[in-house]
Parts: sequence; structure tokens; C-alpha cells
Amino acid sequence: MQVRYRYRIYPTPGQQQALARAFGCARVVYNDCLVLRDACHAAGEKISDTEVQRRVITLAKRTPERAWLSQVASVALVQACQDARRAYKNWFDSMAGRRKGPKVRHPKPRRKRGRQSIRLTRNGFALHRERLYVAKVGDIRVQWSRGLPSEPSSVTVIREPDDRYYASFVVKRPATPLPACDREAGIDLGLNSLVVTSDGEIISNPRFYRAAQRRLRRAQRVLSRRRKGSANRAKARQRVAAVHRKVRDARLDHAHKTALRLVRDNQAVYAEDLCVSGMARTRLAKSVADAGWSQLLRFIAEKAARYGRTFCKIGRFEPTSQVCSACGVNDGPKPLRIREWMCAACGTVHDRDVNAARNILALGRRERLNACGTGVRPPLTVAVGVEAGTRRSAA
Ligand SMILES: [Zn+2]
Repeated sequence: MQVRYRYRIYPTPGQQQALARAFGCARVVYNDCLVLRDACHAAGEKISDTEVQRRVITLAKRTPERAWLSQVASVALVQACQDARRAYKNWFDSMAGRRKGPKVRHPKPRRKRGRQSIRLTRNGFALHRERLYVAKVGDIRVQWSRGLPSEPSSVTVIREPDDRYYASFVVKRPATPLPACDREAGIDLGLNSLVVTSDGEIISNPRFYRAAQRRLRRAQRVLSRRRKGSANRAKARQRVAAVHRKVRDARLDHAHKTALRLVRDNQAVYAEDLCVSGMARTRLAKSVADAGWSQLLRFIAEKAARYGRTFCKIGRFEPTSQVCSACGVNDGPKPLRIREWMCAACGTVHDRDVNAARNILALGRRERLNACGTGVRPPLTVAVGVEAGTRRSAA
């Protein structure tokens, strides 16, 4: 399994300058790639990847406007080319319907502001004793917060908007399967709480996360009042970046722990695919919570692979919040403010989210059975009782 290990690094002022040059060059090469590919696309020409690279790096270095590209490690520039190629390909495949998931937009040019990074393969970096050697930058001090599990195959050097530097290594780590257990869970991604499970467990967003969000709004308000180009504005921007980091870290930490708990406690975890469940949600609610949800689902998928557990996404739309999970009757749509309802057919009282999670669990099991069986897709409203008997064999 390939995973990323991230460490804080402390470049000297001189190394920071060298890195800034490398970030800048990689950014220019990336943007030049996009311009060139756009031009060829508009003209209806096909251009090979090697030709793109030759024009934006090799030939560009000979022109007076781009001569400074030779000051930085060419590995970083080649990787910027590759990044642009992949971004372009994702957009293209998405347009042609060859790519699953939500629509990918046309790649945006990289900007001078915000997060900067360069990617280096084996010939652009090395580990010198305790330090990280980066070509044309030097030996950078690393805070080794934990050991690397294997020799890294590539590294991304990052400068975050709050002026902290990180190195993110790609390493191989063997899977370590956990002993099998016979519990399974469906999870409903909520707005008020992060996750509700089919067992009725509610996992909420931690309180400090909400507090950090409040601080973030305040810091952003201060920033918007500062005059452009002033020293106070620069300070306010740093502050916003620092609060952003804290919000991000808090969310990251909580998402990791939640994902680990769900994967450890259950042999299989089922969730709705976001691009499918998104249809049932309002635009605003989606934009607020989407980032957190997709992060959580990604972590669950990663940890399930690592610990030998199953994670399935339900890839089609089902009215999980309308159907009674006890008798399978569709009770009709209910406004979001209704948290609890009684099934008109069988009289079961449901918590809205737990009921949805139970339906997701039943659906997930059924889709998994289909994947290795008949290929029939029965609707959710088939009596759930039939499913109970097949439970063990499905697991
Ligand atoms: Zn019912």
C-alpha cells in the first residue's frame, strides 16, 4: 500500500529563498502547460506529452523570458508538467464521461498566493543522515515525528499559507489485517452531527472545531477591513492562515479517529456516495459540509484497505430518509426539521438519521451480494425481513 507520511521541516532563510524560486518556476511551468494545451485544444491539434515538456521546459529555458528556469532542479519542473497533464486529462475524461464521480472542471492556473509546492522523484532528493537533501536547495532540517516505514519513492515539499514548511513522503506500508468480526454498519452523513450509524450511535463534530470556525470568521472579518498592501493586512492574512490551519488540523484529527473507530468496530462499513446523496441536499448545506464528508470517506476507505475490512459506497440514489427501515414502506418526503417520525404502515417510531443509516446498511449489503451474485438490483422497498436470513453469508 502506498501512503503519505508528512513531517514539518525547517529550511534556513537561504533555503527558503531557494524553495521560493523552485515553487515559482514549477508554478510557471504548470501554467505554461495549461496555456499550451488549451491553445492546441482550441486549434484542434494533438500534442504529445513529450512535446509539451520540450516546449515549456527545454525550449523555454533558451528564451530570455524563461532563462531563470535553469536555476532550479529540473525534476521539479518535469513533475509540474506531469501534474498539469493529469489535471488536463481528468478534465478531459470527465467531459467524455470516462471518469466516475462529480464533474471535473477545467484546471485552474496556479497562483502566487496560498499553498505552494514542488514534487520530487528519487533523483531530486535524498535523505542525508537526519536531513532531507533537495536538489539545488540543500540539506533541510526535518522534525522526524515518527519513523518512515520504508524508503520513500517521492517527496512533496510544501509551504502552507501560514509560512510553515512540510515534507510529504510517499512510502510503501504493508497491510495489517485485523481479526475478523461480525458487525456491520451503515453510516449516514449528517449536517448537525458528522455521522449517525445504523446502531444509533451519533458522532458529532467536536466542539473545539466549531469554536475554531467562529475564530476563523472573526479573523476573516478583520482581514477584509485592512487596506490592501498594508503591513496590517499582511499580518491579518497570516492570522487567517493560522486559524485555517487549526480548523483543518482539528477536522483532520477527528476524521482520522472517527474513521479508525468505524473500521475497527465493523467488518464492513457502508455509506452513500457523495455525488449521489448530494442530490437530496440543498446547495448551501452541501458546500458547508462536503469537504469534511469526502475527507472522512477517504479515510475510511484507506483504513479499511489497511486493516482488511470492507468499505462500500452505495452508488445510486435511494430515498433512504423516506423509507421505513422496519417494514420497507415509503412514507413520503419529510422536511429536514422533522427529526423523528412514525411509520404509517407498521407504527415504528424512527429517528430520521438512524433510519437512514439502517437503510444504507441494508442497501449496502444488497449491493455487495449483487456484486458477486445475480446482478439484479432490487429496490429498497423489498421487505427487509428477507434479508435478515442471508446476513451471515453476506458478511
Ligand atoms: Zn414501517
